[in-house]
Amino acid sequence: MLRSVILAASRSSQVERLVATAPFTRDVVRRFVAGATTDDALRATRELVADGQAVTLDYLGEDTTTPDQANATRDEYRTLLRRLAAAGLTPAAEVSVKLSALGQMFDEQLAYDNARAICAAADAAGTTVTLDMEDHTTTDSTLDILAKLRKDHPGTGAVLQAYLRRTESDCRELASAGSRVRLCKGAYKEPESVAYQSAREVDKSYVRCMNVLMSGDGYPMLATHDPRLIAIGEDRARWFDRDPGRFEFQMLYGIRPEEQQRLVGEGYTVRTYVPYGDQWYGYLMRRLAERPANLAFFGRAVLSKK
Ligand SMILES: Cc1cc2nc3c(=O)[nH]c(=O)nc-3n(C[C@H](O)[C@H](O)[C@H](O)COP(=O)(O)OP(=O)(O)OC[C@H]3O[C@@H](n4cnc5c(N)ncnc54)[C@H](O)[C@@H]3O)c2cc1C
Repeated sequence: MLRSVILAASRSSQVERLVATAPFTRDVVRRFVAGATTDDALRATRELVADGQAVTLDYLGEDTTTPDQANATRDEYRTLLRRLAAAGLTPAAEVSVKLSALGQMFDEQLAYDNARAICAAADAAGTTVTLDMEDHTTTDSTLDILAKLRKDHPGTGAVLQAYLRRTESDCRELASAGSRVRLCKGAYKEPESVAYQSAREVDKSYVRCMNVLMSGDGYPMLATHDPRLIAIGEDRARWFDRDPGRFEFQMLYGIRPEEQQRLVGEGYTVRTYVPYGDQWYGYLMRRLAERPANLAFFGRAVLSKK
């Protein structure tokens, strides 16, 4: 019910105007999205890198329905990567890409070609690309495209979602030398047939997947704000002798910035996921709709910086 209301609101230009002009929204947007332009993305990156953090940048534009939109998204990533390199912000900054924004929904080959062009631009800029993971109907296609991209661009990173029942097995597949894997809980509304439904089951799966990745040969990227999972991550790093150059923590822009700084202070590599672009409205509303529990997540983050 709540999900339907939020989704309806995400498609209404009237609600968008209302939300966009409300003072509370401006605070939320400023807190969670770096801004609308490439300049904004560079400014936020510069600030985070100056604070000792690494960055992954996401250009917002998921509702891609035409080849022109897909190609425009590819071109923005290429411009961004050129400018990051020119500003000396690579390799500290890399990019996160949603294949749906590159045309995956209507032309898988186009999405692959666009992703390849972005990987080539990332190589030239001396940095990497991570493929975000979307809902479970895209998992096989995304992992297939990842495997093809990694032939020429072995540093291309994957994202695996602990709420999916298949993920522990996917972790085993991907825990090999040179493989970069971001482990997150998962943000979409998924059916019981493919995904654990309770928070406890998802957390237990996260720990099992973390054990596989941290004991394996790849480069684990532990994406979570959950204090218990972060503590377990720190424990596994000690147990498996992973020094800070051999795994990293990741968090979203604006969420728990003081915890991000604490981890940097402890000597860990911490990468912040920075979304930017003028499609922030859809981004925030879809995040809420995909998982209404995120209402509490964003609410908590507004009230607390811890
Ligand atoms: C870098 C990054 C990349 C991501 N990429 C993807 C992706 O490609 N695909 C995808 O599906 N999902 C992605 N996600 C989203 C992810 O799947 C989750 O939906 C999101 O991170 C919330 O899960 P959580 O692990 O932080 O735990 P939650 O269960 O949301 O929160 C756990 C606990 O964290 C604590 N907490 C959270 N915020 C605060 C706060 N502000 N103050 C105090 N305590 C707090 C609370 O104790 C809370 O109970 C990504 C997340 C990150 C961080």
